Amino acid sequence: MTDCIFCKLANKEIPVEPIIETDFVIVLKDRAPVAKEHVLVIPKNHTEDITKTPVDVIAHVAHAAAVYAREHMPNGSRIIINTGTDGGQTVRHFHAHVIGGEKLKDL
Ligand code: 5GP
Ligand code: ZN
Repeated sequence: MTDCIFCKLANKEIPVEPIIETDFVIVLKDRAPVAKEHVLVIPKNHTEDITKTPVDVIAHVAHAAAVYAREHMPNGSRIIINTGTDGGQTVRHFHAHVIGGEKLKDL
């Protein structure tokens, strides 16, 4: 996708400093964190949202999110996948949020 900000980040078309990079995903800090720690797991291949994403890509994103949470948020975290208009998804490139580093408000 030529006009997708997460494609540009994941493919390094614009400067980015990933915290983690694998063959399939990058992990980077959210530019507008909602808690002490807030990262995004972004797959390198573009799909619009989780409902349109192959299961192997979902697995890579889930795995990276779980590893990040285990290693950086030992007291717990929230892993969120916003989906579509009603789900409040603002960037239409599938991604997961990993949020923590402090006690979060109950949902
Ligand atoms: P969602 O689509 O799940 O609502 O959230 C998109 C998230 O991406 C937001 O939390 C927003 O702050 C973050 N975001 C949007 N553009 C950029 C960017 O260019 N760089 C980074 N690091 N985060 C971004
Ligand atoms: Zn994209």
